[in-house]
Amino acid sequence: MLLWNGKLVNEEDVRVSYHDRGYYFGDGIYEVFRIYQGHLFEKEAHLDRLYNSLAEIKIRIPWSREELSDQLDQLRDTFGEQDGMLYLQFTRGEAKRAHAFPASSTAVMLGYCEPLARPVDAIENGIATITCEDVRWLRCNIKSLNLLPNTLAKQEAAEAGATEAILIRTDNTVTEGSSSNLLIVKNGTIYTHPDGPLILSGITKKVIERIASELQIPYVQRSFTREELMAADEAMITSTTMEAAPVITIDGQPVGTGTPGPVTRRLQEAYLQQVHALLAG
Ligand code: PMP
Repeated sequence: MLLWNGKLVNEEDVRVSYHDRGYYFGDGIYEVFRIYQGHLFEKEAHLDRLYNSLAEIKIRIPWSREELSDQLDQLRDTFGEQDGMLYLQFTRGEAKRAHAFPASSTAVMLGYCEPLARPVDAIENGIATITCEDVRWLRCNIKSLNLLPNTLAKQEAAEAGATEAILIRTDNTVTEGSSSNLLIVKNGTIYTHPDGPLILSGITKKVIERIASELQIPYVQRSFTREELMAADEAMITSTTMEAAPVITIDGQPVGTGTPGPVTRRLQEAYLQQVHALLAG
């Protein structure tokens, strides 16, 4: 089943107009929720970010947060007790093609669940990455459907046989991955780019921040350079689907020892405990 404008429907009942502004302009936003054995992980944090993205691009939706939250539960219930993800997007809706917002249009909602196993190989063994210029706009805090710079960077990584592209601005600031946040460890302290317009405020990163505080691992939000990245003892990417995955190479160079480091391992272990707590609760 899919969630289509507030209702659970079959796939055949979804009809998207070629006048949808999502199709013409990428005029919309989305969220990806993690499902662990039928449970939505960090649901409220994802809803907070969703509402923030909607407000940032001035899309109004006709459902209250409670109604939307119930709809997501209903969609998840149709999915059963598997591991997976819930994808949800809103576009500004249907209107004759013109850049400015239409006088009246109704937001179009699409949601669905898909099976997705935990990426155990990446989590256990780590991933290879490349670096790429960060050519994105200055409102990366919005989870916008406009992902062309991200898809181009990810494709570059794929063609290099790597899993993720690490984005670096022309001023030498390392921001995040093409679909993940990036954290490094140096002398026992975790560093990550501060939240703000240059990165997406990752929900997974927030969970890691909470864990670091519980484990009393120093956690500093400040930007760092390519040189600091390459000299890091450990690096990891975080995302809803990848959890916390160790970065073992960058542009073919090993990070630290070239194997997942001890701080990353402690964070991963505690992350898994949070997942187990969700399943137990
Ligand atoms: N940055 C970007 C650009 C992303 O696409 C993602 C994945 N949604 C993230 C960071 C990580 O965010 P989250 O932990 O909320 O999935």
